[in-house]
Amino acid sequence: LRTAAQPAYSESAQRLLARAPALFIDGEWTASTGDATIAVHDPSTGREIATIADATADDIDRAVAAARRAFDDGRWTGLSPYQRERLIHGLADLIEQHAAELAELESIDNGKPLASSAGYDIPRSVSTLRYMAGWATRLTGEHLDPANFPSGAVHAYIRREPVGVCAQIVPWNYPLMMAVQKIAPALAAGCTMVLKPAEQTPLTVLRLADLIVQSGIPAGVINIVTGYGETAGDRMVRHPDVDKIGFTGSTHVGKLISRAAVDTLKRVTLELGGKSPVIVLPDVDIGQAANGAARAIFSNAGQVCIAGSRLFAHRSIFDRLIEAVAKDAAGWTVGPSLAPGTRMGPLVSAEQHERVLGYIDSGRREGASVLVGGDTPGGDGWFVNPTVLVDVTPEMKVVREEIFGPVLAAQRFDDLDEVAKAANDTVYGLSASIWTRDLSAMHRLAAKLKSGMVWGNCTSAADSSMPFGGVKQSGLGREGGRIGIEAYTELKTVGIML
Ligand code: NAD
Repeated sequence: LRTAAQPAYSESAQRLLARAPALFIDGEWTASTGDATIAVHDPSTGREIATIADATADDIDRAVAAARRAFDDGRWTGLSPYQRERLIHGLADLIEQHAAELAELESIDNGKPLASSAGYDIPRSVSTLRYMAGWATRLTGEHLDPANFPSGAVHAYIRREPVGVCAQIVPWNYPLMMAVQKIAPALAAGCTMVLKPAEQTPLTVLRLADLIVQSGIPAGVINIVTGYGETAGDRMVRHPDVDKIGFTGSTHVGKLISRAAVDTLKRVTLELGGKSPVIVLPDVDIGQAANGAARAIFSNAGQVCIAGSRLFAHRSIFDRLIEAVAKDAAGWTVGPSLAPGTRMGPLVSAEQHERVLGYIDSGRREGASVLVGGDTPGGDGWFVNPTVLVDVTPEMKVVREEIFGPVLAAQRFDDLDEVAKAANDTVYGLSASIWTRDLSAMHRLAAKLKSGMVWGNCTSAADSSMPFGGVKQSGLGREGGRIGIEAYTELKTVGIML
């Protein structure tokens, strides 16, 4: 399946990779107060390509203090909503102007194919900023008529105010896009922030800092620190001057963060893991559904929170569908991120590579059969071939746990009630995809699934106007849409006796 070796990086990428480790605090690049650094790798080659700072507790305190000052002195909240909207659009313009450079950097750092970074991650970062920019001028409070006072005796209203200083912590699967998903609503609502990218994939977010300076967004409004979760991230989460935590990552860390935030009752939104079902009813076009099921699990090498990792196909079509999925899998050319023919890149890290192969082995040991894949195509990078497991049972680890790799577990079902029950038999509840032409079945099933999002006849129709998030252990709160920006606000009720 493999294509050629990783092509050479562009000169601009090489210059960025050669930069000395630094943190972006109060609008400036500054060295860490400690000497510790973290190595960044190209997952397509396994080679070390850059070094970033491992922020100390002091560094985090400096970044939070800068965000606090920027919030309290009104340099951001004091602007008119229209000025804020313009500045956010300005940042979107700059990302657009540097799209090619950012796409290359994202692919080098994360391993995803260049076509995916250029065609999805970067444009989605731009459109998220543009969508959220509009909310700056549209957020409103409310006027009330109190129930127990004579009409007109009390002037009562609700003010909607920015929540304050936000700690934004993001994962490595869509590094720039996830960062922007946190930055955009916070900016539009009038918040200031400290953002930490994942230690595996800091490069595009660090480059974004340069663009933030150019955009004219005031110093201190967005601070960017690099470091490990257990140290730098934990300090951010516990800091008394932080008012809200926006976190995307694993359910395990989401729980740690929730516990840490309780001491100061910080506002918390969590976008966590999933084990999303793809349910295929017997009336579908087999080719289309198979293609959708393959995209649901093989896109981004399965490193997607809403990855369709459990396929439920009606017994009458199971064999034909699964054969078509296996055939589709063969078309996912695995290779280095910058090579033109690549459709699936490597996994992000050696650790993730080992984890995913470990899951495939556990599936085999528990009695699953590997229909396709199940191995690596070789080479120095952290590659895993697209994998389809059959003969799986509900208690197997490959069915219960989030693998976060290109591994599909396929099962049969007979009727709607049975498949709804099986699909809901998980601690997760992020998304689900249903394939059918039967409208009644589609809506009945959509209502029965315990899931934050349901997609019909597609793998995902998400965009920044649609609330995104999960129920059960898949998260708390939603990103996107009106609710996504309201998550960065507090309400204040004012009642004045006239
Ligand atoms: P992770 O939870 O290990 O790390 C995510 C971030 O949290 C990183 O920046 C990390 O440094 C930081 N972190 C780790 N420990 C911390 C701690 N104790 N305190 C504060 N911060 C800490 O997750 P990951 O492995 O990088 O990402 C994969 C996970 O993210 C998957 O479970 C996936 O489903 C989830 N995810 C969810 C969504 C969503 O929208 N629901 C989107 C993308 C990814």
